[in-house]
Order: sequence, then C-alpha cells, then structure tokens
Amino acid sequence: MPSILLRGGTVLDGTGKPGRRADVRVTNDRVREIAAGLKAVPGERVIDAGGKVVAPGFIDTHSHADGGLLDTPDAETQIRQGITTAIVGQDGGSQMPLADYWRNVQAKRVALNLASFVGHGTLRRKVLGDDYKRAATAAEVAKMCALAEQEMRAGALGLSSGLEYDPGLYAETDEVIACARVAAKHRGLYISHVRDEENDALGAFREVIRIAEAARLPAQISHIKLGSSPVWGKAPEVLRMMADARRRGVDVTADVYPYTYWQSTITVIIPTRNWSDRAAWQRGLAEIGGPGSVLLSTYSPDPAWKGKTLAQLAKSTGKDAVTLIQEIVNKTQGPGATGRESVVVTAMNEKDLKTFLADRHVMISTDGGLRSTHPRGAGSYPRVLGRYVREQRVLSLPEAIRKMTSLPARRMGLAGRGTLAAGNRADIVVFDRATVRDTATTANPTAPPVGISHVLVNGVPVLDGGRMTGARPGQILLRRR
Ligand SMILES: [Zn+2]
Repeated sequence: MPSILLRGGTVLDGTGKPGRRADVRVTNDRVREIAAGLKAVPGERVIDAGGKVVAPGFIDTHSHADGGLLDTPDAETQIRQGITTAIVGQDGGSQMPLADYWRNVQAKRVALNLASFVGHGTLRRKVLGDDYKRAATAAEVAKMCALAEQEMRAGALGLSSGLEYDPGLYAETDEVIACARVAAKHRGLYISHVRDEENDALGAFREVIRIAEAARLPAQISHIKLGSSPVWGKAPEVLRMMADARRRGVDVTADVYPYTYWQSTITVIIPTRNWSDRAAWQRGLAEIGGPGSVLLSTYSPDPAWKGKTLAQLAKSTGKDAVTLIQEIVNKTQGPGATGRESVVVTAMNEKDLKTFLADRHVMISTDGGLRSTHPRGAGSYPRVLGRYVREQRVLSLPEAIRKMTSLPARRMGLAGRGTLAAGNRADIVVFDRATVRDTATTANPTAPPVGISHVLVNGVPVLDGGRMTGARPGQILLRRR
C-alpha cells in the first residue's frame, strides 16, 4: 500500500491538547510520523490539508449501524460525518451469535470499524421467547448468563441494556446485575438506555449506578437526556450524582447526541403499557410539550401522515391527539398489527443538552443508524463542531475532538485508536473548522454535512475530497483481553 502524506494541516491529536501545525504520514494502516515540514517521498500520495484540521476518526459509542450494514457496507451517512468506528449492539439488542455476525461482516467487508456489545434484551428474548412479560426465574437468568459468557468470549465490549423497551422493561434490576457480572468478569463495560428518560430519569440513572456498583464494572448512560418538563433543568443535579458515584469508586460516564428531539416509538410517551388509558396519554403529551412536539417520522399504514405533527393531524382529521395516538398504536402494536411507526419528539431543553455536552465525562454519540430518519444519523458530529463549538462556544474544539476520539477509545477499550500518534491505526478525519456543519433536518434527515473532506479508515481513504471512494477497509474490534 503506498504511503499518504497529509500536508499543511493543524493536528488535533485527540488528547485535548491544542492544535499544532504538522504533517502526518500514513504508511499501510498506521500513522508513521507526525512532524512539521515533512517532504513527500517518491510515489507518495499528498493530500493538501492546508488550513484544515487533521484529527483522529470519530468513535461513535452509540451506533445503530448494525441494522442493514451488510446491505449498505459503505455506511455513507456515518463516514461523511467523520465516523471511523461504530460501536453497535446497543439498547439491549445485539446480533447473536456475534461470532457468526463477525464472519458475515468480514466476508462482506465494510467501510468503518465495528465493535459490539452483547444485548441484555437479546439474551432475554433468546431464553424467554415470547413469554417475556415477566421476571425471569433463577434458572432462566443462569441461561442468559451462559449466553452472555459466549458473547463476551466472542469479543463483545460488555453488556448493553434497553430497559425502556420490550423485553428489557420487564427485567428486575437483579437480573441485569447478574448479566453485568459476566461482563465484569471479562473486564467489560455496562452501557444502558435507561429505564426512564422522562419523569423518573434520575431514578433510572440511579439504577445504572446501582448495577455498576453491585456488578463491579464501569458503566455508561447512553444518549443521556432529560425528556420531559418535570425534569428539565436537572442536568447539573444528574452530573453531580455521577460525580458522587465516581468519588465512591463507581466509574460512570455518559454519551450524548446534539439534538433536543429524540426518535423512538410513540409508545414511550407513556410509561405504562396501558394503551387505552386516555388520561395517561394526555399527561404524557403535556409533559413533552403537547401534540405539536410529536412528529411522525415513519408511518406505514398511511404514508401521507409521515412528516406531520400530531397537532397538524388533529387539525386535518378533526380528531383529538389522544384518539390519533390510539389509532396509531392499534395499527402498529399488539396482536396482528403489521404497521410500523416512529416519531421524532422535541422534548429536551437545549440548556440541559449544553450542560451535558460540556461535561468532561460525557462523550459524543449519534444513536443513529444507516440512513436514519432522525437527522442525528447524518449530522451529529458536524453539528457539535459547527453549532456547539464554533457558533455557541459551549466547548473548545480540542475538547470536542477529545470527546469524539480518545475519551470513547479509552472507555470502549480500543487500543491504538482515538489519538493521532506514530504507531497508532490511521483512522483520520480532515475538516474545515470554519465551515463544518450539519445540514440534515427532520425533513431531509440524510443530507450530508459540509466541511468534512477526507476520512481515512485504517490508512485507506473512504472519503476523498468529498467523494466516497467505495473502499471498505473497516476492521472488527474485539474487546482487549
Ligand atoms: Zn437508545
């Protein structure tokens, strides 16, 4: 493989140190040297990085790129925002057995590096089958642990959970602790979409800390948020709770995506599963700011509803918002329903988001998949760099890069990545700090960002002068033993 010289850029090495003018030489899949004034050697490809930032590739600690990756191996929406490693198997759902999935990925070849958690929900579903709406018995928990053991041996980074969703929702904390102990034995991480991201978010964060403490492993809160009006403004309190836990020796961190709206199923608007409870829906709607906050981003029973808010639909159909929700739920949930829905809900306040973004122990993630219907899938990293670094100065550029690179690399146990240093893998992104920004919106969620020109994965350009090269140099990253 010929070597590449990235010349004339400002190197931000991922550690949080300020940038310095330097050239970066890449040979094969590694960074060979970083120094000012490097001369091109014969046959070497020179990439002009003049006036641009050269940084380690971004490591997305909460990615859904495993959905459909074998059909979309170029992962364009991820690569174009500078992501070189996607951490999948999130929210309690993972490919199982991982060993088979890794074989398939290797046979197909993909553009970015991949690492995965083992999902608690997947374990639960395997052992309990359709009869999962209950606590598991001791024997069943033992079976789940045996499967977790198998997946940790296949290189999973740790255990993920999604306690707000089926089937994780029905798990008692002790069941999760038992599975997390298996991850702990292999020096893995516990990572969780917590049980409640709305009114009882603080209680849900406390459960993460309790699980980490009992199972004796580090933990990470996924896409941390305060998603309803009763908990708005509590970000400082949440960060204090996490800092207190760290002081007692419970190593807890979080990741966050830079949007004030989430995307999920409409059913998470109420904490109970009682769809007929009109008062609960009414309350749930009020707490997220009313029917104007809920936009249908997928709705297969009537595609004309897609892109409309519940407030708009109420106006056009003459039905009230709760009746509409119940119609949607009837067509998409429960026995015999075949429809699919998803909603984008603006339910967080930006002040909390900025407080989380600025905290040293919070890293950046997307929570996005390939061609997501939420703009986070295409815009998260450039949005942090444009909106929150350049425009609003919520955090400095070196600190933002650290939260996208070395912090997640260390947290996920990815050796030799996340910093630009001689000998490390050459996962590199080149961008223009003056122009980088997201363009994805809810109306056009896969619109590519601007200002990111080159992305190298393991030394191979996958984005070159703004064009996808079609190269698929991604590697599978297993937990370091
Ligand atoms: Zn999630």
